[in-house]
Amino acid sequence: MPTQAIEPDRIAFERPGKHHYRLAFHLDSRWGYSLVPMTVINGRRPADPGTGVAIFGGTHGNEYEGQIAVKRLCHDLNPDEMQGRVILMPQLSESACASHARASPEDGVNMNRAFPGDVRGSLSFRIAHFVKTRVFPHVRLVIDLHAGGREAAFPLCTSLHAIRDPVRHQETLLVARLFDTPFVFIYSRQMASGLLTDEAEDDGKVAVGGELGFAEGARCAGVRHAYEGVRNVLCHYGMLTGNVSKIDANRTSPPRLVQALELADYVPCPRTGIWESTVEPGSDVSEGELLGRLHDFSDHASAPLEVRAHRRGVVIALHFAAACRQGSTLYVIAEDVPVST
Ligand SMILES: [Zn+2]
Repeated sequence: MPTQAIEPDRIAFERPGKHHYRLAFHLDSRWGYSLVPMTVINGRRPADPGTGVAIFGGTHGNEYEGQIAVKRLCHDLNPDEMQGRVILMPQLSESACASHARASPEDGVNMNRAFPGDVRGSLSFRIAHFVKTRVFPHVRLVIDLHAGGREAAFPLCTSLHAIRDPVRHQETLLVARLFDTPFVFIYSRQMASGLLTDEAEDDGKVAVGGELGFAEGARCAGVRHAYEGVRNVLCHYGMLTGNVSKIDANRTSPPRLVQALELADYVPCPRTGIWESTVEPGSDVSEGELLGRLHDFSDHASAPLEVRAHRRGVVIALHFAAACRQGSTLYVIAEDVPVST
């Protein structure tokens, strides 16, 4: 029997133990609800309250590694072994997840552009408003697990913005590294607005994102880093018994810290065409190195347009789909962050 639906305002976040909910957000144009899954755990171990953590998957409906990892955590985490509060939302944009789409088909809104939300807005804005006003006040850490969907191919990475407060910046980096992905990526806040992690940051939270796969699949490595990474975070803060563990046994080095802070490093596709990439995501490239070719099939005898790296660095994102429209982000090149950062 599935978990009963409940009005979002009736959640008792302080109830000891583990409780599963489906939050009923009414639809905009039909009779019915989007039933958004949420699990709230208040650990039973007697100790000081731990750091509250909120973990989200399915902010985009066609990105699955985070959805799977958070769902497994809803089942696996045992409140008898825990202290502090963990709030798990495996399919934040439930309507997008149900239709395997990036944005909600109910209102056409990308949940990761809907923050801070609006209590009188359409479905996605009301869910965002609930997260900001009802979930964030209970936690200090916010983790939003993404993948590239149809947008881009990434090497496995966790991500964060550069934060002015050096203490919070260091703590955010520490949390990002606990996922033991090959890369930790510091990205530009200018690329978009209305992100869940933007809002969490502005509320003073330690906020970490991640890109744990791409192409609408569910890569085992991505799910493993998401699932074990969250467990590492809980262990690090003493909310779960056990020690932080190495997730990728095949890689001896710590995550490589890279950044792309300038919009010039997020390069748009110069013209619509068929994209043949010639490098893998995560590759080191030199300035002028061939990244791919854009083909125009209206003239099959024509030479392709060669796309070359505008600078040296790491290809941290690469357009995934072959069909590429003018203006879509074609690639992103990041640079190593000096060790002292
Ligand atoms: Zn996403």
